[in-house]
Amino acid sequence: MVRCRRLASFSQDSHGTRRTFLSPPMHRVHQEIAGWMEPLGANVRIDAAGNLRGLYPALEASGPRLLVGSHLDTVPNAGAYDGILGVVLAVALLEGLGGRKLPYAVEVVGFSDEEGVRFGTPFIGSRALVGRLDEDLLGNVDVEGVSVRKAIEEFGLKPAEIESAAVEDNVYGYIEFHIEQGPVLERLGLPLAVVDTIAGQSRMEVTFVGHANHAGTTPMDLRSDAIAGAAEWITAVESIGQAVAGLVATVGAIRAEPGVANVIAGKATLSLDVRHAADEHRLRAVQHFRDQAEQIALRRRLSAHWKTLLNQPAVAMDPFLSHQIEAAIGKTGSKPHRMVSGAGHDAMVLAEKIPAAMIFLRTPGGISHDPKEAVAVEDIAKAIECGLHLLDQLTLSTRLQARMPGA
Ligand SMILES: [Zn+2]
Repeated sequence: MVRCRRLASFSQDSHGTRRTFLSPPMHRVHQEIAGWMEPLGANVRIDAAGNLRGLYPALEASGPRLLVGSHLDTVPNAGAYDGILGVVLAVALLEGLGGRKLPYAVEVVGFSDEEGVRFGTPFIGSRALVGRLDEDLLGNVDVEGVSVRKAIEEFGLKPAEIESAAVEDNVYGYIEFHIEQGPVLERLGLPLAVVDTIAGQSRMEVTFVGHANHAGTTPMDLRSDAIAGAAEWITAVESIGQAVAGLVATVGAIRAEPGVANVIAGKATLSLDVRHAADEHRLRAVQHFRDQAEQIALRRRLSAHWKTLLNQPAVAMDPFLSHQIEAAIGKTGSKPHRMVSGAGHDAMVLAEKIPAAMIFLRTPGGISHDPKEAVAVEDIAKAIECGLHLLDQLTLSTRLQARMPGA
């Protein structure tokens, strides 16, 4: 926890923590973590996408490799644990080995960007590991007109070497510890959970169009009020969301035009975010929301317009690694709860190429992306204990035996 708070002090802002993709304070973070890992015998480098990579070698150089990590960037006015804790815990696991080498190497990864704050596109770091940090993405610019490519160069790295950041064939898995960022484990009274699935996500922009008119002279029965239609639809979205198990549906933004007190709104544009672990349930809900919008619009003499911005399928975590995590949590004396992650994580991207799994830590008050973000020291102890059991279990696993040289 002390280490997490120290890393939180390396910030672009004098008050509060903000550390976006390859911003100057990221140098300090890299130096600090390298300073913890090198005395343990790890070789630390920064890859061309700005990811910190610390390789703790295997007993024999030809052994396979396990990745353990999370992200080092933050949102503005961040807490001290989102992402960073997963990297600090990975270092703690190496310390917990007490100099013991395993039949496989452990590579600690601190991703340069997961939040997507600087370029509006998340997962720049992990995309490099799966070979998807492409020309398109390198050309994205931040608010100051600096491209991803330029940011990499300004940090002292070479975009031409990005290919060498990709995971090699000897990597057999990725494990990520992360705070839950929600209230579920706290409500259950449990310190840890294994993540089954990272929920799929749909994002839409929905616009109700009516007629702007005078708020004083237009009788109530002769109006085509876009805001009133939007309001009815928002509560319908909420009711449907409450009625379907595992579904979350959110209207987070509304913009009215002309947006003044004495004019009936002619137009209301809303955001819609829909998530579920099962893609069919998510897509069915989205269709239901759309039907509702059309029915409400028809009845109110409005028109409803629908634009899909994102349609991202759910990502299942690796069943073998998840089962191993469950067993490791059990060994710490806690009940191994299984849950869905409603938020996206680096593990979701890594899962495209290698078996990936996640462990959640209870988040007091469910608070995250806020300086009040916290974690209990007892829960961190449980996470380290679980992680060390996991490393030993993997040593004995058939999955690992199959990846050993000569197997
Ligand atoms: Zn995170």
